[in-house]
Amino acid sequence: MAIVRDEIKCFKCGRQASVRVRYARMNLCSEHFTEHVEMRVIRVIEKHNMFNGVRRLIIALSGGKDSTSLAYIVMKYRELFGIKEVYGLHLDLGIKGFSEESSYVVGRACRELNLKCLVLPLRDLIGRSLPELIKISRRPPCSLCGMLKRYLINMVSVELNADAVALGHHMDDLLVFAIKDFLVQGDFRMIKLSPVALGIKGVMTTKLRILHEIYEDDIILYANIRGIDYVRSPCPYKYVDNIKAAVREMLDRLEASSPGFKIALIRRLTKAVDVKAEGEIVPCEYCGMPSSSGICSFCKFTEKFLGKPLGYDVRSKIRELIKNLS
Ligand code: SF4
Ligand code: ZN
Ligand code: ZN
Repeated sequence: MAIVRDEIKCFKCGRQASVRVRYARMNLCSEHFTEHVEMRVIRVIEKHNMFNGVRRLIIALSGGKDSTSLAYIVMKYRELFGIKEVYGLHLDLGIKGFSEESSYVVGRACRELNLKCLVLPLRDLIGRSLPELIKISRRPPCSLCGMLKRYLINMVSVELNADAVALGHHMDDLLVFAIKDFLVQGDFRMIKLSPVALGIKGVMTTKLRILHEIYEDDIILYANIRGIDYVRSPCPYKYVDNIKAAVREMLDRLEASSPGFKIALIRRLTKAVDVKAEGEIVPCEYCGMPSSSGICSFCKFTEKFLGKPLGYDVRSKIRELIKNLS
């Protein structure tokens, strides 16, 4: 994608174009560029039948450009798909500065979009913030953060009896995660590329990766053109993963020499996803959430580092929060 010269016209309306969309071989004005991105999202939703039977949807909101833009697109077209209720869900990690800004941005987006907003402060749920948990456990921040987010988002969606949770992962990240797993762990099941991760009633809610075929650059430009506010400062725990950076660079080079390469690749790799690969799931004996061995990662973690498995307590607090919502 590139900014175009003055005399070039929009492919759709003939007005001055502002964006060259290389993978689609089109020049577009700002208005038709945002429409182009929205139509690509809608085509992915239709292709994978994502909203079939979805009446109550949760959008996991971090405050970043991806999930915030996703919320704007879903809210614009939700009636088309028969979605009756949408909740925005945000986990306040308690990271000084960054979390306050994220919660503020999420709250404002929810108000603008008329979304029911659920903000979960980690400290209220388990008495500790993410930085404190990192210090106590010495676990890598992003792996700990990912575990907490997956657990709490799933728990809220089960308690809310939601039909699905929409996640904001875009195509560039999905490709990098899957290829890194392949290179480092020899994992060729490509499970993280699945656009729809089917749930199990009462235990695990279906996850939708709606931005599955959407470029990160398109999302940035979309958010900027539409004036969508998002958190710009990076999380202080963000670090450069050399393998991911190398994979990203390789993919970017291939895309530059062959526009549309990433779309073709994700489509091919998605066909290889092995949906049976997630293994057997059993409810955790403490909290009832999914686990592979009878005790979920959250209960194991809290038992080891906070003295007791906290899943059951957290579930009770979340039930209270939800009661107060309605
Ligand atoms: Fe969590 Fe890591 Fe993202 Fe920070 S960078 S929000 S610690 S996953
Ligand atoms: Zn136009
Ligand atoms: Zn548990």
